[in-house]
Amino acid sequence: MPLHIETPLIESRAIGAIARRRVRLKMEALQPPGSFKIRGVGHACEHYARQGKRRFVSSSGGNAGIAAAYAGRQLGLPVTVVVPETTTELARQLIRNEAAELVVHGASWAEANALAGSLLGDEVAFIHPFDDPLLWTGHASMIDEAARQGGKPDAVVLSVGGGGLMCGVIEGLRRNDWADVPVIAAETDGTASLASAMAAGRRVTLDAIDSVATSLGAKQICTRAWQWTGAHPVRSGVVSDADALDACERFLDDHRVLVEPACGAALALTYGNVPALSAFEDILVIVCGGATASLDQIRAWRAALGGR
Ligand SMILES: *Cc1c(COP(=O)(O)O)cnc(C)c1O
Repeated sequence: MPLHIETPLIESRAIGAIARRRVRLKMEALQPPGSFKIRGVGHACEHYARQGKRRFVSSSGGNAGIAAAYAGRQLGLPVTVVVPETTTELARQLIRNEAAELVVHGASWAEANALAGSLLGDEVAFIHPFDDPLLWTGHASMIDEAARQGGKPDAVVLSVGGGGLMCGVIEGLRRNDWADVPVIAAETDGTASLASAMAAGRRVTLDAIDSVATSLGAKQICTRAWQWTGAHPVRSGVVSDADALDACERFLDDHRVLVEPACGAALALTYGNVPALSAFEDILVIVCGGATASLDQIRAWRAALGGR
C-alpha cells in the first residue's frame, strides 16, 4: 500500500470558462499531508525502510518536511525535521502534529541543513525535498492515475521550485506513452530559477529568493530538471506574487480548496490565459496544494502588495 492516496481528476467549468479551453485539475491538494510531496517522499521512505534505515531526517520547514513526518508516522519510524528560526508557527505545528521531532536551528536553511547533515548515519536516511530519483518515480504515479482517470491532455501545467515535481510528471508522461505532451512550468518573479536557466542556456543560481511562494524557493533547479528542458517539450511561464495570491483566493471561491501561492502560480497561468497556453485546447493542471499558508496569511500578503 503506497502512503499517498489516489486523488480526484475533475474538470473545472469555472476556470475553463475564463481560460476558454477545457481545464482538468489533478487534486494533489487533497493528499493527507496537504501536497503532492507525499507521493515521492512516501516512495523514498518506503524504499529506505526496506533497505534497513531506521530513522528519517529532513531539513525542510515546508511540505517536504511535513510529508516526511507523515511518512515516518505511517511506517512506524522516527523522523527528525530540522528547520531554521524563520519557519512559521503554522509549519512547525504541522510537523509536530505528525509526531516528528522538530529541531529549530540557525538563522537560515543552510544552517538547519548543516545540522541535519550531522545527524546522518548508517541507519538514517536523508529525505531531500526535490533532488532524488526515488522522489521523481513516486511523483510520476500522479500521471499513471490521470491516464487511468481520463484522456490525454494537450499540455500539463505545473509549478516549479527545485524541479522535482516536473521531473516526476515528465517521467510519468513518458511511461504512459504521453512523451509528446508539453509541460508548462510556472514560477513567480522572485523564484524563477527555471526561467532564468532557460533564458541563459545553462543552470544558473539565483542571488536571492524574494517571493510569497516560499515552496518554490530553490535558488537552482536540479540537474535532471535542467536536462529535461533539452529532452522534453518544456515551456516556462512566470507570474507576479500578486497574481499567484489572487489565483489562490479565486480557486478557493471556485473549488473551495485553499492552496499555497506556490500552487497559485500554476493556477495564475491558467486563469491568466497566458500566450504559452494558446495552442492547447485541453489542459491538465497539477493542483500541487501546500499546507503552510492560511487564508489570513494570503490576505495579509495580498494587502501588503497593494494594487500591484
Ligand atoms: C515543493 C512544492 C512545489 C515545488 O516542487 P519542486 O519539486 O521543488 O519543483 C510546488 N508547490 C508546492 C505546494 C510544494 O510543496
